[in-house]
Amino acid sequence: MEYAKILEEIQQDLLDFPAIGKVTTTIPELATINPDKFGIHLTTINSIDYGIGDSEEKFSIQSISKALTVALAFSFLDENIWKRVGVEPSGTAFNSLIQLEYEKGIPRNPFINSGAIVIADMLVSCLKNPKEDFLTFIRMISGSASIDYNYAVAQSEKDTRFRNAALANFLKSFGNIENDVDEVLDFYFHQCSIEMTCQELAHSFFFFANEGKTKDGKQILTRSQVKRLNALMQTCGFYDESGEFTYKVGLPGKSGIGGGIVALYPNVFVVATWSPKLNKKGNSELGMHALEALTTKTGMSVF
Ligand code: GLN
Repeated sequence: MEYAKILEEIQQDLLDFPAIGKVTTTIPELATINPDKFGIHLTTINSIDYGIGDSEEKFSIQSISKALTVALAFSFLDENIWKRVGVEPSGTAFNSLIQLEYEKGIPRNPFINSGAIVIADMLVSCLKNPKEDFLTFIRMISGSASIDYNYAVAQSEKDTRFRNAALANFLKSFGNIENDVDEVLDFYFHQCSIEMTCQELAHSFFFFANEGKTKDGKQILTRSQVKRLNALMQTCGFYDESGEFTYKVGLPGKSGIGGGIVALYPNVFVVATWSPKLNKKGNSELGMHALEALTTKTGMSVF
């Protein structure tokens, strides 16, 4: 497959795409990003790398981190995690509160904020030094020692935490948070503040495409476990736009309000895009378009 040529074609096509999306405003520290950044990086299952545009520039991975925290929690607790978080699409916005009351504090899935906060609570319980240990895990799976938290972004999110604080307190009232609410939120804001390039993101998600094994052969999850998490990314990775992403792109993936998207075709490739302009559902407008073009041009989608 001529990936280099295809990525160039995609970048060229995007010049004509009328992107009307807006950079996130919910985290003040992120509101100053240059909206015109665009990068894409694809890593094949044989570890061949193809990058284009701003693919080597770091950006805030935000909710993409939710797929990595759930993977780590799954590695410790296996199926027990589903006693506290569901596996159903929510059909609601990423930061919605509405279903929690009806569902007695059990979030629909680990990719909406409420679900990710419960997963963060599990990691705060399982890890000795939660923030340090999580970073060590991320550096290990990505093979990149330079990956770090952006403390200013974490602080900015803490300063404007009202919705996430409401979710965490509501979850606590149902008994679905074991630790101190502020400690769990602090972990959650830090996981969201992690910065990666498109290349680092593609490498971090390599194990999802490679039957649970990282690029350098470490088994993170079993084949069956990654099959399950990929299924969840497919059905829930884009909140109330998961159906649309499946319809247009046809790959499991995860987005973040920093403008990143990572998607994968099991046993074939992992691809990460970055473009900060978001559509109304909080997903990268150009990123979705680029991935739609990728699966259309290559014919490679899971469907
Ligand atoms: N840190 C963001 C939040 O909690 C993550 C949201 C996202 O990327 N969709 O609101």
